[in-house]
Formats: sequence, C-alpha cells, structure tokens
Amino acid sequence: MTDENLTLETAKVRLEQLQTQLHQWATEYYQNDNPSVEDHVYDAAYQEVVEIEDQFPSLISPDSITQQVGDQVKAELSKVTHSVPMLSLGDVFSWGELEVWMQGVQAQFSAPLDYNAELKIDGLAISLQYENGKLVQASTRGNGTIGEDVTSNVWQIQDIPHQLSEAITVEVRGEIYMPKAAFLVLNEQRDRDGLAPFANPRNAAAGSLRQLDSKITKQRQLAGFIYQAVDPQNVLQVATQAELLQRFAELGLPVNRDNQVVNDLAELKTYITNQTARRDELAYGIDGIVVKVNVLDLRSQLGNTVKVPRWAIAYKFPAEEKETILREIEWTV
Ligand code: NAD
Repeated sequence: MTDENLTLETAKVRLEQLQTQLHQWATEYYQNDNPSVEDHVYDAAYQEVVEIEDQFPSLISPDSITQQVGDQVKAELSKVTHSVPMLSLGDVFSWGELEVWMQGVQAQFSAPLDYNAELKIDGLAISLQYENGKLVQASTRGNGTIGEDVTSNVWQIQDIPHQLSEAITVEVRGEIYMPKAAFLVLNEQRDRDGLAPFANPRNAAAGSLRQLDSKITKQRQLAGFIYQAVDPQNVLQVATQAELLQRFAELGLPVNRDNQVVNDLAELKTYITNQTARRDELAYGIDGIVVKVNVLDLRSQLGNTVKVPRWAIAYKFPAEEKETILREIEWTV
C-alpha cells in the first residue's frame, strides 16, 4: 500500500525507527526466548517496513529485518554451518493475498500445479543429520546460515529417533515444539518456583532446546514433526512433498498427518477453514497453514529470495486481539 504522505526523507526516518524496534524485538524473541510484545504487534511493524521498502526500494539495506533470517546465535552454544541455508517463510494474511501468491507461482508453469497444505507448527526449526541411519548432529536455524549445535539436547526428545529404520545418510528438517499440556505443567512449576512464566509454548520450546544442560531439556517433554529434507529427490527417491512425508514416516520420523494435497484455491480454502476450526482441539499450537508446491523438481525453477523460498507460503491466522495492532510504534519525526 502506497503512503502518499511519505517522502524519501520521512520514509528513511520511519524505517530507522521501525528497524531499531524490530531488531530489538527479534533479539528478545530469537536470542532470549522472551518476547516483550505479541507476534501480531511485531508482524504489523514488519509489514510497515515491507510497504515502505516496496515504495522506496533504494532504502532496502542488507541489514534490513526483511533481508535476514532469525537473529544471532547464543554465544554459549557451539556453532554449526548449515549445508544449505535454513530459510524462513513468506507470509500472507488474507484469501486475496493467498490467491495472488498462487497465481504468481502458477504463472511460471504451463501445466496446472498442485500444492501440499500442512499445519504450521508453532515451534522452532531444527535440522537433523543422520549418517548411516544414526542421528549424529542436531542444529537450530540460527541466522539461517549458522545455527546452534543442540545435538545432546535433541537426544533427550523421545519423538526424535536416534536410529532410522534404514541405514541411510540424510539431513532432515522440521519443527521442535512443546505440547500445550507440557507448557501448562511447566508454567505451573515455574510459578511454584518463583520464576517468570514462558510467554507461549513456542518460546518455552526454544528456551528448553537451547540449553547448556541437556537434563533440563529432558524434563521439558518436547516433541517434533519433520517436513523437509536436503536433496530429497536423490537421497530419498521421492517426487512430491506428499511422498516425502510418507517416506519420513517409513523411516520412523515423526510426521504430522494433517497434510493434504490441494489442486486450487477453493480446495485450499476448505482445508484452511477445516483446520482453523480444529485449532483449539490440537495438542500443540499452530499459527497458520503452510502451502507448498507439491512436485519437488518444480521448486528449483522458482528458487528463493535471501530470506524465503518462492515455492511455499505461510497463511497466518488472524491475531486474536486485532484492535491493539495499529501503530504500536509511534512516529517521533
Ligand atoms: P515463521 O515462524 O513465521 O515461519 C517460518 C518457519 O515456520 C520455518 O522456519 C519453520 O520453522 C516453521 N514451520 C512450521 N511448520 C512448518 C511446515 N509445516 N513447513 C515449513 N515450515 C514450517 O518465520 P520466522 O522468520 O521464524 O519468524 C517470524 C515470526 O516470528 C512471525 O510470526 C513473528 O510474529 C514472530 N516473531 C515475533 C517476535 C515478537 O517479539 N513477538 C519477534 C520476532 C519474530
């Protein structure tokens, strides 16, 4: 949306304010696992940056929040350089934006596309390296290029197999989350111990995984879902996202079964409406739906930006307290 009142100069000042604030919130969220504002407040400010940068592309700098994945890694944890960057996801907040995204992707191909729709699990991204079927390394996304080594902690998560059912070498990626029930128990315990509660299950999961003492991770009852692999066509001999998920299950990896292949926007809307209605019944938090081009070979044609793949999008659920969204960061120009 173009703001007619903005000039290059005022846009620059506004961007600086927003960037400073967003980087501070990102540090609280990604590095300290302790956000001071709700996600929709962060999202609204982020969206304002996107709109200003769309209007004044010359103001986009490499250290803009829109050009970076996550934030810095915790100094106390060892570092892992990812073989292939771990990206974020672009997001949309309405049917209209979803339709525009689908049309843009479809326009790149002559044959009609299908998509795999999945729940967007509200946890933190993990990469798991299996060698000859054995789990040898686990790392967080970190800044997308360099993550934190959390191998000994991931060994404590019951859901994540130490050994696959086949002796293959593969890097898989997914989400570690804290089930809602475990989150309630943890915060009750913290209350009894006089400790501050975790803001939400996502931050509790991140705080529990990024620990120096894996005994603490063990007590926290984390769980996981795997949804991605590095080079899946060659390593796992699969052609689509739906087959990939099936293959993960055969290997003994935890897979969320609520995914569905959809052919068009109407089918996708039905899927999203149904899953949104079930949201409160689920044992874990979800913050949206992820839509992915189903045929893996087609993805390379779409590629990635520095931050997100172009072959997938997150449809985010509307915030529950909409009225507090608007203009949380006051202009001080
Ligand atoms: P994101 O969490 O919105 O989306 C990308 C991530 O989704 C992926 O990295 C992956 O880990 C995850 N994911 C879950 N299910 C998936 C699936 N089925 N398939 C693929 N990926 C799946 O993006 P982000 O860049 O990590 O974080 C942005 C979000 O974090 C925003 O929603 C923002 O509100 C929130 N945030 C909040 C604050 C705050 O202060 N409250 C600060 C920073 C970020």
